[in-house]
Amino acid sequence: MLFRCENCGGNVIYSPEKGKMYCPHCDGIDSGKIEGTGIRTECVNCGAPLEIKEYNSTCRCGYCGSYIILDERVEGEYKPHLVLPFKIGRKYAVELLKNEFKSRIFTPGTFLEESTLEEMKGMYVPFWLYDYKADIDYSGKGTKVRVWSSGNTEYTETSYFRVKRNMGIDFRKVPADASIEMPDDVMDLMEPFEYNALEEFQEKYLSGFYGEIYNEGADKLEERAYGKVQKDADSLLMETLGGYTSLVPEHKNIRLDRKDVSYTLLPVWRYLYKYQGKDYPFYVNGQTGKVIGATPVSRKKVIVYSGTVLAAVWTALAFFIGILEIL
Ligand SMILES: [Zn+2]
Ligand SMILES: [Zn+2]
Repeated sequence: MLFRCENCGGNVIYSPEKGKMYCPHCDGIDSGKIEGTGIRTECVNCGAPLEIKEYNSTCRCGYCGSYIILDERVEGEYKPHLVLPFKIGRKYAVELLKNEFKSRIFTPGTFLEESTLEEMKGMYVPFWLYDYKADIDYSGKGTKVRVWSSGNTEYTETSYFRVKRNMGIDFRKVPADASIEMPDDVMDLMEPFEYNALEEFQEKYLSGFYGEIYNEGADKLEERAYGKVQKDADSLLMETLGGYTSLVPEHKNIRLDRKDVSYTLLPVWRYLYKYQGKDYPFYVNGQTGKVIGATPVSRKKVIVYSGTVLAAVWTALAFFIGILEIL
């Protein structure tokens, strides 16, 4: 399908700046109507053959530049539950990239030249967002030691505790990206996304962007989310166990139950910079503007990134913490 302008017949796209459907040909707002539904291998607008890759859910006609949404890849098992619409448009994404790298003296002169900016693509990356309920049981033996002096004598008092913790925590929307092409470590650095802006999926958000269906299923990718939650549950438990001089655990059990999983599209700008025959990818979070990437001749080979890095990316809501100390 394609969104066609009711005023001028042009291809209507979603504008992150306006937060609405927008016709760049006649400046029309919300003037798009769906046209040309069904399974197609040719452009709805001009009839040219479309180059459709294995995981594409949208593509751009190489001849007329229209954005075509592939019906069969946004329906049935491939219909996303949720989408986080782009908040940052191409112009602002370019500006963020430029600002991030303009002060770096090792940035090559051709970086972000106008002629290469066409390579900047807005992409919806498929993710699975998992919800878990964690039940945590802990028991151990703790001591608290108090030392004081009176006259020439030093006194030591050791108190012994039986320490018990019984906690329940809800973890909401723990992400794992479902795109093989997107490197996992880069996608982890893209976080956090602000999930309170998630919306029920609508095709219109895809118009003007590239999209992918999930490459791998929720069960296959669960291990990544599970590992993140396991680690987080453990550190939340540890936070409640401070204050002892010594603590010997006797029993620790963290049980995770998956409550829900949502197939979700998240917005990312990607810029492929070609330098001396190699591709250097840069990414801008399409919602928060966080920039990730490293220039080819930058001295540090590490990935640089800006923006706020929050320790907890997803929502952890402790609904029950039982604390028991018996002397
Ligand atoms: Zn128009
Ligand atoms: Zn076309």
